[in-house]
Amino acid sequence: MSFQKLGLIKPLLGAIGELGYKHPTTIQKRAIPLVLAKNDVFATAQTGTGKTAAFALPILQRLRNTTADENRAIRAVILSPTRELSIQIHEDVVNYSKHMSISCAILVGGKDIEYQQRSLKKGVDIVIATPGRFMEHMERGLDISNIEVFVVDEADRMLDMGFSKEIRKIHLQLPKRHQTLLFSATYSDKVRKLSKQILTKPAFIETAKKNTTVDTINQVAYLVDTDKKAALLAYLIGSRNYPQVLVFTRTKVSADALFIELQKDGLKCGIIHGDKTQANRLKTLGEFKEGKVKVLVATDIASRGLDIEELPYVINYELPSVPEDYVHRVGRTGRAGRNGEAISLIDIYEKFDIREIEKVIGMKIPQETVEGFEPDPTIRRKDQDELKLKNEHKKPDKKRAPKRSFKKTTATKTTTKKRKTTKRDPK
Ligand code: AMP
Repeated sequence: MSFQKLGLIKPLLGAIGELGYKHPTTIQKRAIPLVLAKNDVFATAQTGTGKTAAFALPILQRLRNTTADENRAIRAVILSPTRELSIQIHEDVVNYSKHMSISCAILVGGKDIEYQQRSLKKGVDIVIATPGRFMEHMERGLDISNIEVFVVDEADRMLDMGFSKEIRKIHLQLPKRHQTLLFSATYSDKVRKLSKQILTKPAFIETAKKNTTVDTINQVAYLVDTDKKAALLAYLIGSRNYPQVLVFTRTKVSADALFIELQKDGLKCGIIHGDKTQANRLKTLGEFKEGKVKVLVATDIASRGLDIEELPYVINYELPSVPEDYVHRVGRTGRAGRNGEAISLIDIYEKFDIREIEKVIGMKIPQETVEGFEPDPTIRRKDQDELKLKNEHKKPDKKRAPKRSFKKTTATKTTTKKRKTTKRDPK
């Protein structure tokens, strides 16, 4: 199937041809005709499957008849969870509309709101925004009475970030006759609930099984002790000649610590997390895209917005605290049908977390060791003593047991716990 057959107009065909898109991806094949036919759409699509073009191309086609600059009204709003993702979508929309006279603005937090207001006055057709900043503009009198299309991208992520109220508030103030498109990488109860609130007779598109990772990605987990993770990471990057790697940590603190460690190893690194300024994050991302930075250390906040062509390796230095985030992290590689590799470095504390992830993605991640970095079998979870103590204190409280029987209970409990621990430890 070709893009022509989907009924796209010449200026769009020209633009995507120049970008090197030859055939539509599955989500594009299914969504483009539905969006052109003005249906509400609820699509679950994996990250990296080309979903931005799936909604942006037909929206641009719908809005092709624009008026003179000063009379332009906002006719489409695309909400996305993060600044980075908004910037990426904006870049895509600008690329797709390069042969059209469509004007597009980006409204994200961390930028001067008055500057944004002035740019809106020049006349804008499409707005790409984070929900909080869009609300602020609405409160300052942004005219949304001409909106024809409302897109909620990465809906699951937005709900995780607590944007549910904002989305519903914005939706309630839109003109009655409008089209809503909801895209989500994962299919949770929260997303389903939101879809019922904001969609009217939607067409459903499910291009992948629930929460599965893209099958062009090879996934592996290396068992390693916590204090050897940084050394193993540097070893993998060096010995396997990885040209570029995106490395995820769970927290800002460990991202900072790892960044320092890798720099000591002489690796050219960048770091992005929530405490970095917008300008700083963009600069680092730019350097990574240009190849000036070999290793980019990031927390989950950055995992959604990154679209780096042909990124072959993603390494989970630490597993995410939410299993669904694993899907988003590894979705940074293997994009648009390319092959990728996702490596997770897991220590004794993460052996349980990986099982949770496997439940979400519905497949086993092979666990291996790297020679010279095998976990020390004598190491036990450091928190076992703490757990034991907690249990000892909890038990009499709950059962209000007398002092003598308390001792007995404690002994039994500890034995059971010990047995469990032994099972969990590496042999
Ligand atoms: P997305 O899922 O929208 O983030 O897209 C992932 C990547 O695939 C981006 O780099 C797009 O430019 C690229 N892409 C989207 N559609 C196609 C297509 N039909 N052919 C080739 N690449 C595409």
